[in-house]
Amino acid sequence: MRRMPATIVCAVVIAAVLGAASDAPQQGTNRSWPLDDVLTQLQASPRDPFLQYVALQLAWRKKDLARVQPLVEKAISDSHRGGRARDADLFSLFTGALAVQESLQLDVIAGPASSAAFDPPDIPRAPVRADAHREQHARELIPISTLGGPTVKSHPWEAMLAGRKPAISPLALCVPDDFYFLEFRSASKLLDLLEQGDLWATHLASHAVGEARSQRIRQRLQMQLAIETSTVLRPFYDLAIDGVAITGSDLAFAEGADVTILFHAPKPELVKNRLDAFLKSALQSHPDARTTNGKILGIDFTHVSTPDRAVHAFAAQPRSDLFVRSNSRIALERVLAAVTSQPGARRLGDSSEFAYVRTLFPTGAPQEDGFAYLSDPFIRHLVGPVAKLTERRRVLCYNHIRMIGHSALLYRLEHGRPPKSLDELADSRCCPGNFNADRLRCPDGGTYVLDADGLTGHCTHHGHAQSLVPDCEIPLSTVTQTEAGQYADFVKEYNQYWRTFFDPIALRIQIRPDRYRVETVILPLIDNSIYTAMARVLGGTPEPLDALPVPKRNFFTLAFRINKLQLLKEFELADGGNPAQLASARNADTALALRQANAPLGLPAEVFDKLNIRTLLNEGVGNQIAFHLYDSPPPIDVNVPMLAGWMLGQGVGHPGAESGRMIGELPAILPIAGLLHPVYVSVPVRNRGIVDDFLNRLDRFLAAEARVHRRDWFIEYASDFYKLTSAVNSKEKFRVAGLRFGPIKVRLFWARIGDGLYLATQPFILEDLVALETQQPPRKAEEAGPAAHGLFRIRAGHWNELLPADRLGWAESNREACLQNIGPLSSVLRALSTGEIEGRQKQLADMAGQVMDVEFYCPEGGHYDVTPDGRAVRCSVHGSPADSYQSDRPAEGSEVARLMRNLNQFTASLTIQRDGLFACLEIDRKP
Ligand SMILES: [Zn+2]
Ligand SMILES: [Zn+2]
Repeated sequence: MRRMPATIVCAVVIAAVLGAASDAPQQGTNRSWPLDDVLTQLQASPRDPFLQYVALQLAWRKKDLARVQPLVEKAISDSHRGGRARDADLFSLFTGALAVQESLQLDVIAGPASSAAFDPPDIPRAPVRADAHREQHARELIPISTLGGPTVKSHPWEAMLAGRKPAISPLALCVPDDFYFLEFRSASKLLDLLEQGDLWATHLASHAVGEARSQRIRQRLQMQLAIETSTVLRPFYDLAIDGVAITGSDLAFAEGADVTILFHAPKPELVKNRLDAFLKSALQSHPDARTTNGKILGIDFTHVSTPDRAVHAFAAQPRSDLFVRSNSRIALERVLAAVTSQPGARRLGDSSEFAYVRTLFPTGAPQEDGFAYLSDPFIRHLVGPVAKLTERRRVLCYNHIRMIGHSALLYRLEHGRPPKSLDELADSRCCPGNFNADRLRCPDGGTYVLDADGLTGHCTHHGHAQSLVPDCEIPLSTVTQTEAGQYADFVKEYNQYWRTFFDPIALRIQIRPDRYRVETVILPLIDNSIYTAMARVLGGTPEPLDALPVPKRNFFTLAFRINKLQLLKEFELADGGNPAQLASARNADTALALRQANAPLGLPAEVFDKLNIRTLLNEGVGNQIAFHLYDSPPPIDVNVPMLAGWMLGQGVGHPGAESGRMIGELPAILPIAGLLHPVYVSVPVRNRGIVDDFLNRLDRFLAAEARVHRRDWFIEYASDFYKLTSAVNSKEKFRVAGLRFGPIKVRLFWARIGDGLYLATQPFILEDLVALETQQPPRKAEEAGPAAHGLFRIRAGHWNELLPADRLGWAESNREACLQNIGPLSSVLRALSTGEIEGRQKQLADMAGQVMDVEFYCPEGGHYDVTPDGRAVRCSVHGSPADSYQSDRPAEGSEVARLMRNLNQFTASLTIQRDGLFACLEIDRKP
């Protein structure tokens, strides 16, 4: 068998190590890490995949898994805000490989939590005789072509298009119809989007998810494609390029996806020189990079690559004005087939679905700097059996590759040097068996290899953890029974949750220095019930929402354009309605309306008439109603990004349910917010006279009827009504109604101020509105929201200025996220040799990054230092978990502080049109 003498030597070493582990820690040569110390450490820093590995592996050695497994399970679920299901969902649309790695690692070492839900049986266990038959059956292979994807229909695009021929950009005619498509007219605007998106994702993550770890996806892809984007290059891009598109066959960017970039260039010589220079500099900075040349469909290409795929760039110029850069030969072939219109190559720009969407979002509209499109065939491919099962195998392999890294680090920790081979890892019992055997085999038949640095591993089939081979390059023809069964379960669930039609996703993107704007459309056929219900309550010609004056302390607005005319008609309250006709009506609907007319809106008819409510509704007030939250130091700290993240998280597991659920949950959150903050409601006034008349009638009514004082059981009820003179302007009077239950008194304040009718829970809100009304100049028209039917707006500018608690909250999130990183870095530090401290900081960061496949960073720009004694890691800003500090707000110079300062407001709006539901998100910045 394998190198017996080495095994014996190792066995002796292991015996010594194990012996030492169970004894009291010794000084000097002993490098073991006692299991109980590891478990104590794990409690302090649960979010450390390496530490989890060490705990499991040491327990495996000591046959103590029964005790340790639940502790690691708890660490995994504790360490993720909002909790994480113990079973890794390999078919979820939104979880990346990184997120499930911890669970998979646990499954491999300790056995799956529930074997039915997640057993990778395509990696057969040692056969047990009684199970031999079943085992055999489970390994029988099924052609993947026999598996069916979700049975969801396509829209009738041809009919919807109805012969229209909208303009299609030339780049849309260069990509396959089952690829995603992102097109920009200006390269620097695209870069702005990618970079800002990156920044936001990074910092919101540290606040909402509590993580300060980055996979540096954009930087990795740029390096792989050999494309440089420094700011000095931007003028060049904008001068030479009039269109740029990004396309590919899947969205697993974090793990390794095929990405192809197309440049449309009216000045080709400029672009050619620059792109060639990028390839040269990639060659220079990677000594192991090689250049090869070849031809695809008669088109010359140059390929520069390194063995680990860190650089893997194909460059081609299929037309004089078109440059293509890809990180995948297969993807390049597909794109070149589209560019050259090969027979059978279906192009996105030719499809009737794309043309239809271009009738809704016309090419070249002023609101369009960029356009992103996920087509029906693309989404179909993404949820199809080939993509899902290829990715499933790749994720299982990714976990093994990460385990090789953890195992190698454990070896280094215990032996003071890197391992020389995978066998050495197995012999030293640093991994639960031999890689490439039994449970530790690549599910797709690849072979695992330890890299020359003795720190990371790779798979001959799937590549390296930081740049896995894209799924489109991994052929899959047959699958196991288990894989087929799991996919069938996924399809069943998908068909249940998804809607009747596949909805393509189209985003129209605008990038201005002061505003980002993204607009999308939800086609009306998908879910008629929600659509009709919304169109009934909200509707009519869209109006600019949120147009009334806004006090400085208003930080949240939810506004609706009510379909007032329609609703008044339904309730038989519209002017011109004839009561005589009502009486003669026979059908049940009208009878209901008749009952409602006797007690309109739940009020007795005589009160209704006395207050003249019909005139008020028809002529006095406008079509809108808005709810506003007012700033005050809240008694409880609510982390709003986290709340939003939590709400989204609720929907993410069930694709298609998100949008409906989000809208559904919003009203539930408002009363909670109302308890924490003062609230007011505003309605625009159309006729001041009618509204004032109504208020006077209401005064008389309340003065006469509402003065009640009684005692039921032990509680005393008392109501109260009076007028309050404004302190700001004595001509203004506020109406106050009070209701007392025993010791608790609730008050409501209302007034017409200018062209608004307001109802508030605190008098200072009305005072602020009076002050605004008298102030000159009045609010500018462009400060109102977009014309729409529904809107919510977060005035982050107001919030940041006024809510120190929130700044404190951000700073706290930053500190927590930063300190989460100390654990993994300290674990890696243990594995470093006790040599010189010089240069160790860099080595530490590099090593942690390589083994754990993320970059650890401090959100406030601190750096992680090794303490002078070489035993611990500290953040220069936040200290260590045992001795941590922060300031009352994010550091002035930090990216978070800058982002928060620049952020002015978020506005999300919804417009109901015949063609669909248009949703728009605007982010206003201070330029
Ligand atoms: Zn593999
Ligand atoms: Zn820090």
